[in-house]
Amino acid sequence: MAICYLGIGSNLGDRQKNIRLAIKRLNNLKDTKVLKVSKIIETKPVGGPSGQRKFLNAALKIKTNLSALKLLRKLKSIERQLGRKQTVRFGPRTIDLDILFYNNEVISRRELKVPHPRIFEREFVVKPLMEIL
Ligand code: ADP
Ligand code: MG
Repeated sequence: MAICYLGIGSNLGDRQKNIRLAIKRLNNLKDTKVLKVSKIIETKPVGGPSGQRKFLNAALKIKTNLSALKLLRKLKSIERQLGRKQTVRFGPRTIDLDILFYNNEVISRRELKVPHPRIFEREFVVKPLMEIL
């Protein structure tokens, strides 16, 4: 059983609804429970194309029996189910789900870096994360 912190963000479509739906889907994953959800904050987009809408961001604490890589695949599949299409780095997205911490594991693969390397340069990640830590 792993304790894991996730970052979640949305700046396309009905942002509140996207976040709510993603949390519901996470909770419905096999052997996975959402334990805590931070307040949702609105933040200015960082990087990416100019003229993007503001984001809604939050952090989650979950427990799961999925390995970190399997969890990442599930997160990507939830992103796809919720209609995420753009793959522009830092670009607009209906939903973005990132693994911030997975137990105390350190992972440095191309497709998965844990702890997430940009946690502490992003206020929109740190703020909600500190709230639930
Ligand atoms: P970002 O979240 O940085 O804006 P994306 O959501 O487009 O960018 O993700 C790009 C890639 O980052 C994903 O395909 C994923 O494989 C990889 N990645 C590496 N580490 C992580 C992590 N800790 N959580 C989520 N994705 C990660
Ligand atoms: Mg991401």
